Amino acid sequence: MAIGVLAVQGDFAAHAETLRRIGVNAIEVRRSNDLDAADGLILPGGESTTMLKFIEEENLAQSITDFARQGKPILGTCAGAILLARGVYNPAQASLGLIDIGVERNGYGRQVDSFIAEVETVIEGGPLEGVFIRAPRIRCSGPNVEILGRLRGEPVLVRERNIVVATFHPELTEDDRAQRLFLERAVAFTK
Ligand code: GLN
Repeated sequence: MAIGVLAVQGDFAAHAETLRRIGVNAIEVRRSNDLDAADGLILPGGESTTMLKFIEEENLAQSITDFARQGKPILGTCAGAILLARGVYNPAQASLGLIDIGVERNGYGRQVDSFIAEVETVIEGGPLEGVFIRAPRIRCSGPNVEILGRLRGEPVLVRERNIVVATFHPELTEDDRAQRLFLERAVAFTK
């Protein structure tokens, strides 16, 4: 299995490291054809505005959309969640619109912008450690969006078919249950 990681900016190296620890090949994605060999794709945390600009310049939006339409899984963490959302507010920003959620950027305010908190989850094994860094807040979600993790009652880990979104950074902890949830779907595409 080989998983692409959008490697423009942000913490793509931490994601690649987690994949290697699990025993999965990581491919750095910067051009459309880097996706050819990938069975899944991760959009990491960082600055969504910078990543979006790169996606537009490199015409990656169509390739990523086609990738999703094939049913291949995509995991977006933090800024990656913003890129995948259907709607982005505060400020409004274009996005790929691959999951039916609306997100507010920097949704926890500037004063307490980064924190670690327990995320209640339906995934086996008890709560996840959530590292939130200037995290977006999921303000609405469509009927097909499954809520897999919550922080103080609000969704922070969600899935719609092959698209998984975490507003926190699972790649910054040892717990890789959120990544495995996404990898399960990638297995089907391995050649
Ligand atoms: N606040 C950032 C953004 O809007 C996301 C922060 C992160 O990915 N840690 O893009």
